[in-house]
Amino acid sequence: MYSDDTIAAISTPPGRGGIGVVRLSGPDSLKIATLLFRPESAGEAGVPNRAQFGRIIDPATAEIVDEVLLTYFKAPRSYTGEDVVEISCHGSPIILARLLQIAIEKGVRVAEPGEFTFRAFFNKRIDLAQAQAVRDVINAQTQYQARVATKQLEGELSLRLTPLKDALVEIIVHLETSVEFVEEDISPETASALLAKLAGVTDALTAIANSFTFGRYVKEGFDLAIVGRPNVGKSSVFNRLIGSDRAIVTELPGTTRDALYETTSINGVPVRLIDTAGIRETVDLVESIGITRSRSAIADADISLLVVDASSPLRKEDLELLDSVPEARRIIALNKTDLPNLLDEQLYDETGVHLAELHANVVSISALTGSGFEELTAKIFERLSGDAATERDDIMLTDARQHAAIRKAVGLLNDARELVSQGELEEIILLRLHGALVALGEITGETLTEDILGQIFSTFCIGK
Ligand code: GDP
Repeated sequence: MYSDDTIAAISTPPGRGGIGVVRLSGPDSLKIATLLFRPESAGEAGVPNRAQFGRIIDPATAEIVDEVLLTYFKAPRSYTGEDVVEISCHGSPIILARLLQIAIEKGVRVAEPGEFTFRAFFNKRIDLAQAQAVRDVINAQTQYQARVATKQLEGELSLRLTPLKDALVEIIVHLETSVEFVEEDISPETASALLAKLAGVTDALTAIANSFTFGRYVKEGFDLAIVGRPNVGKSSVFNRLIGSDRAIVTELPGTTRDALYETTSINGVPVRLIDTAGIRETVDLVESIGITRSRSAIADADISLLVVDASSPLRKEDLELLDSVPEARRIIALNKTDLPNLLDEQLYDETGVHLAELHANVVSISALTGSGFEELTAKIFERLSGDAATERDDIMLTDARQHAAIRKAVGLLNDARELVSQGELEEIILLRLHGALVALGEITGETLTEDILGQIFSTFCIGK
């Protein structure tokens, strides 16, 4: 997959802008750039890490293509670890395309998607987890997503994994070299020390794996159905929830905008609102159709928020909806609590138990005043985190492949512990431990096949 030729691509997004950048990487970068570039002042050509003003000249016609700034990053101190030249010209697609074309004529090859980052990975400038973080930073649609990805870009996941891998290597080396094991069974003292060490590694890995419960929603977004009979305040609640977060600029990858979804974010976590317009807008819609419509929304949702109007008595529809939302994914919002409460006495069942006690996750809110929304948001995130209470500022797994690798390692380590307890032969235990180490190596990339690497990097954009 790696070739050491010189590649080039337009690294700025399509369209017009103040500046556009063509990037070259590979052994001939400087040589080829020099063929096209006429510096304003001679002398400084080829000085690394210094932007130099000049002009791109089409060698075929001697015509000036554009005024540019050229920056040379000498290997290995560049993004890819190779010689890199960045040419910043005016952000015109026509100029950028011509510049790239001239470079191709002089011998560069157009880079594949993600090829610059692949070279950075191949040349060990970054590991695979960081390479994936580069893509996530670029794809981030909320500040929060960008923050989570930036942490991984800084190598935080790798930093967390390194001591655990080291501990595992230490255990393996100990098992492999210990004289004791050559002839005899593992002694009870050694076994219990081994079990304790393995438990430490397993617990730490499990904690990281658990962060994926919430982390996957941070990356992919979650589906929220806001249900309730007409006029209980569903739209108002939704608008409050997204509050200042209206800023999602593009669609989430893999989703298309259709009538049933609206994509936005809550506290930086992307959310697709499953539209229950059928019930929201048509008051005279036959009740059963409304219920059917919201049932299908509920079935699709990660969280269903059932809005109830606390200022009016409960109706049959409220109760029907209450029954149709699975409790594990349900939050009940008692809305309009700024108004006199006409609902409260109804909230007790015949045995005198209050709804809030009967059903977990009841929150009192007012979409008008905004009261109770902090609690509501917290409840939503709590539900999304499942049992794994996720520190929103801690390292968070957002990638399914990384999650699968950690889970695999944890599974093998648990097997190993079981085998130690059963007094199994160390060869058999070692097999599991080696397997766990390989699984962890898949996250940082040292134990991955070319096929899988190819798949991962093909999801990058061109020019990165
Ligand atoms: P939907 O049909 O369920 O989407 O309900 P809307 O969001 O359109 O709200 C119905 C009506 O209730 C509107 O007149 C809102 O202004 C009003 N409303 C919504 N939430 C509250 C609230 O918390 N307090 C009060 N007093 N009125 C509210």
